Amino acid sequence: MSDHAPSPRLAILGGGQLGRMMAFDAHRLDIAPIVVAPQEAAPGFAAAKPIPLDFDDAALGARLEAEADVLTYEVEHLPVEAVRALGERVPLRPGIRSLEITGDRLLEKQFIASCGLPLAPFAPVDGPEDVDAALAVTGLPAILKTRRHGYDGKGQRRVSTREEAEAAARELAVPSVLEGFVTFERELSVVAVRGLDGEVRSWPLAENTHRDGILHVSVAPAPGTDGALHARAEAKAKRLMEELDHVGVLTVELFDTGEQLLLNEIAPRVHNSGHWTLEGAVTSQFENHVRAVCGLPLGDTAARGASVMINLLGELPPREALLAVPGLHLHLYGKAPRPGRKLGHATLCADDMGGLREAAARLPEALRAPTLAALA
Ligand code: AMP
Repeated sequence: MSDHAPSPRLAILGGGQLGRMMAFDAHRLDIAPIVVAPQEAAPGFAAAKPIPLDFDDAALGARLEAEADVLTYEVEHLPVEAVRALGERVPLRPGIRSLEITGDRLLEKQFIASCGLPLAPFAPVDGPEDVDAALAVTGLPAILKTRRHGYDGKGQRRVSTREEAEAAARELAVPSVLEGFVTFERELSVVAVRGLDGEVRSWPLAENTHRDGILHVSVAPAPGTDGALHARAEAKAKRLMEELDHVGVLTVELFDTGEQLLLNEIAPRVHNSGHWTLEGAVTSQFENHVRAVCGLPLGDTAARGASVMINLLGELPPREALLAVPGLHLHLYGKAPRPGRKLGHATLCADDMGGLREAAARLPEALRAPTLAALA
């Protein structure tokens, strides 16, 4: 006879690689995952029981009520009202407020400011007629970003003059936010998790390098950071999570200006800059997210050593060449190649930065230079 509580059934909204990796970790805890996505084929379907329905499909609520005990999401760009309705039938963690706020850049920035946390100056721009008032707040240069559906640098225009800002507003032609351009020393992120009982833990900071607005390489723990910087970043994540009553993982992207940690963006979910935790931390971001939303105790977030994660963007080097690198951990997402698309990632772990550099020297040529640059 077993004294285990029955395993909760976890439904993940969104069919991308984040849900796929979450599902892989759920299986190890004997938590059977379901993936809901509107596509016929989605990376997440290979790892879970697929429900290929639109989020606002009339049949979805009843189906989830019958088949799932907990709902979560792996992406913030979801139809809020449809997800709210699903959350009224099955417990939704994180809750609808985390989704509502982070799915809209303007609401997100207003929320960050209302928490008293520092960020670049910003102002709404619904069309060219708003540009002058917005520039008075942000100054130049600035970046115009769409309020919704922008990610990986998409829906963004960097502008240096008033004329460029007006042209960008005409071109984007949707409600947007103008944001002051930040001169930063580096980009960091903190991935944190909050349990159902309110306990907060976070992984060591990652230092992130982007290529064409898309995350390319993450190094963790971020070189040269001390416990004090991590504590400052964790305190910001904790403040946001408590204010949202967030349950699960939340990621905060930060600009380190040397003096300040300015908040760039919040993701109410597991994050690309936390993929290193799969092999480089005692408990991965995916496992801790599953633990949190299922009301289970959180695992240790300490790093095991030093890690570097390299995104495989646009096209894949031959699998054999990657697997020939000693100690390389390869994750492929089952996606077709397309320019700039995240097709997989590779992680190297070592005892320290010196060991990481040695391991990185054995990478195939296309990955070696950007990885060594990130480790310099
Ligand atoms: P986002 O999608 O908002 O995270 O932007 C993608 C990338 O563009 C960031 O990771 C930064 O490298 C850059 N970026 C975005 N906003 C700013 C800003 N206000 N100042 C400087 N760089 C920015």
